[in-house]
Formats: sequence, structure tokens, C-alpha cells
Amino acid sequence: MQVTAMHFKRKAGANLRNEKLQKALEKLQSKFVDGRAVVIAELSDFEGLRDAAAAIRDRVLNNLDGYLQHFEQEATARGAVVHWAETADDVNRIVAEIAAQHGVQRIVKSKSMVTEECGLNDFLESRGLTVLETDLGEYILQLAKEPPSHIVAPVVHKSKEDIADLFEQKHHRPRTTQITELCREAREVLRPGFLAADMGISGGNFIIAETGSVLIVTNEGNGRLSTTLPRVHVAITGIEKVVPTLEDVTTLLRLLPRSATGQSITNYVSVLTGTKGKEDADGPEHFHIVLLDNGRSRLLGTELQPMLRCIRCGACMNHCPVYQNIGGHAYGWVYPGPMGSVLTPAFVGLENALDLPNASTFCGACAVVCPVKIPLPDLLRQLRHEQVKRHLRPWQERAALRLWSWLAQRPAWYALGTRLVVRLLCLFAGSGKRLRHLPGVSGWTNGRDMPAPTGRTFRELYRSGRT
Ligand code: SF4
Repeated sequence: MQVTAMHFKRKAGANLRNEKLQKALEKLQSKFVDGRAVVIAELSDFEGLRDAAAAIRDRVLNNLDGYLQHFEQEATARGAVVHWAETADDVNRIVAEIAAQHGVQRIVKSKSMVTEECGLNDFLESRGLTVLETDLGEYILQLAKEPPSHIVAPVVHKSKEDIADLFEQKHHRPRTTQITELCREAREVLRPGFLAADMGISGGNFIIAETGSVLIVTNEGNGRLSTTLPRVHVAITGIEKVVPTLEDVTTLLRLLPRSATGQSITNYVSVLTGTKGKEDADGPEHFHIVLLDNGRSRLLGTELQPMLRCIRCGACMNHCPVYQNIGGHAYGWVYPGPMGSVLTPAFVGLENALDLPNASTFCGACAVVCPVKIPLPDLLRQLRHEQVKRHLRPWQERAALRLWSWLAQRPAWYALGTRLVVRLLCLFAGSGKRLRHLPGVSGWTNGRDMPAPTGRTFRELYRSGRT
């Protein structure tokens, strides 16, 4: 997927003015925020569970190579083939080779953000293969030729009317806005695709070291059809998704759906282990697992390592006031919201995503809801620090901060400076006591009035005892 994170401000502005999008984003509150609050309340010790989940993820990250080797041994012993991909291009090449090796022509896919990271669909289609997305949201986006705007609800930016129009245009059937009818229509179109597919591609929410299994959670059943009907199954996931034991996974599973969709458990939890056995009615004859690095190992041992705990639940974006107002496309890559504002610069380079670490009010809601306790505001602050250190911020901003730093270390000059600024602002504001235009901060005053200072500085008020 192309990186367009440098257009963040322009896209965010346009999205704020997009009334249809604003209406669609209202779903976040009722569907995800309120839903999460209800199911979290079912747990007697939610905070204890978060601590346990964070500890599991940290244990893995502190010995990632060991757990990955263990996973490879166990998966291989059960008939799977494990492939190591350093980059997104490696994933594409490996999957194309597997397809060629098994004479594959038609592929069905269940939802996978890692394959979005790699641009896998476009690559395979450029090789003459047919790729059909089977998650309903992803299928809609494939028809619309759009990227996902949310990691759990990829089509959250669309209304049912948008989808009705799209289905009418692409399926050539009578238009309906009934959700059950739209689902039935999609099912009828997708079902022959499952039956004809030679290969199924899935992601992996977790991979389990002790059994060599890939675990996926879905609500639509398309994951099971994609991974068990075709003769070849390829699971693609990031190297950080490894978890030591099934017991550990159950801890994480108590948090993932609750944090993601406000469900105690998803409709389907599939643990996929090895190839089809002699006694099995279903299952793939060939099972390939592709493990992607793509910059993840670079984060190990750095201040950003905690970001690798992420279990992709989406709670941080559902609760983020910035995401709630601009949606996911503004962030310009696969991962939106607070987690994306850390992951995108980390994966594609800070210089290619300059605004993302600043796309935060630092309200802290993301850190409060994150089930694995990732300190997202601290990580964003760390990236901002890095930007300043590498001189990546505009020169005006750096000059202003240098001036402020110089003044802040000289109390007498600071007091004089603030007195002057306050008097000037009062003068600009006039009798209305509101600043409508202020040179240098037009980004603020173009959208709202700024109240003028009351006339005296804090120091003056403090000295006169009127604090
Ligand atoms: S950062 Fe935390 S809240 Fe956000 S998607 Fe990852 S696990 Fe979920």
C-alpha cells in the first residue's frame, strides 16, 4: 500500500468537512466505545488481566528469536513450511513462488493487515492470479478499490447506502439497503469463489510456539472457509505475533475481542495446526506460514519496543478524539490512529510521516484503553523528540522553540517578554476581547476565535496576591 502520510494535514482537513464521513464515524461511539465498556465490566479484575497480557507480550519480545525458533520447529513437525520474509517484497515473492509451485490460479483471502502492508493483492493480480477478498468489509473495499480505514472495521467510513449503491453497480442486482439482504447478496457472490479457489490466504492474530499453530479470530466464518477448503493455505503474519503457549493465548483472547468489538468472544476462534491428516475431512494439503519482519526487529531494544506488544484490537483509535473526527484514511498508510502514528513512522521512516507523531491531543485515552498497556503518548513524545533531534521539524517551529528555551532560562527576560506579548495581544483583540486573526497561528484562528489574555500575566497576578 502506497504511503501518503505526508498529506495528513490536507486529508484531515478535507475529512473534517466531509459530512457523510462524519456521520459514518458516529458508529465508533455506539458500536465500539460503549460496547467495550459493557463487556469490560464483566471482568472482575480487568487491570490484573491487562498486567498479565502485557507481561506475556514482554516475555516474548525479550526472547523473540527463541520463541520464533520454537514455533518453526513445532509447525514444521506438524507438516507446515515456515518462510522468513525480511521485507514486504519478500512476502510477495514467497507467496507468488508458492502459488507457482502448486499451480494456483484462484485465491481467496480472509482479512489480513500484514498483506495490506505488502500490497500483496496488487502484486498477485499483476502476475495474472485472481484474488478474492472474503471478509465482508474487505470485499466491499476490493469492489470500491479503496484501502481500509480501520484495522478491525475496515469499512467503517461507509454507510449502508454507499454499500447498496456499490453492490447495485457491481452485482447488477436490484438495490437494497437492508443489511441482511446485502449480506446475503455478498454471500451468494462469494460462495462460488470459495469452492473454486486453489489457495486460501489468511493473516494470524497469534502464532503459538508450543504447538506450531496459527490462531485467527473472525466473526464471519470466511476465515474457516478460506483456510480449510482450498488445497493450499498460506498464513502471513508479523514476527511479533508469537505467543509461548495456548494458556497464554487464552489470556490475550479474554482481552482482544472485548477491546476490539465489545464482544466477550468472537463468533469463530480457529486454531490451525499442520496439514490435513489422513482421518481429517477438511484442511489444506499444503500449509505455508510466512513470517514478516519489515522493520519490526529494528524496534527491539529501543524505546519503541513496547509498540510490538500490540495485538491489533483497534481500541486506541476507537477512543482517540483525533481518529474519531478524521477517520483512518487521513493517516496515509495501513495503520491509523495512535498505534499507526507510532507504527507508520517506525516502519516507513520518520521523515515520511512527519505529522503523525503530532496527530494527538495527548489526552491519554489510548494508553488507558490499550489491553496490553502500551504507553502510546510516551512513544509519540519519543518520536517528536526524535524529529527535533534530527531537525525534521520546520525551521520556524525550531526557531520559536529555541527562542522560548532561551527565554525560559532567563527569568527577567521571560517576565519582560510575556508582559510585552500580553499587552500586544490585548491591543490586537480590541474591545471584543477575542482574537480573530493572529499572524503565525492562523491554523488556530482560521477555525475558531482565541480569547485575549485578561490583561496581566500570571506572575503579575501572583505577585499582587490575586492567583
Ligand atoms: S496499540 Fe493497544 S489499543 Fe491500539 S491496537 Fe494495539 S493493542 Fe489495541
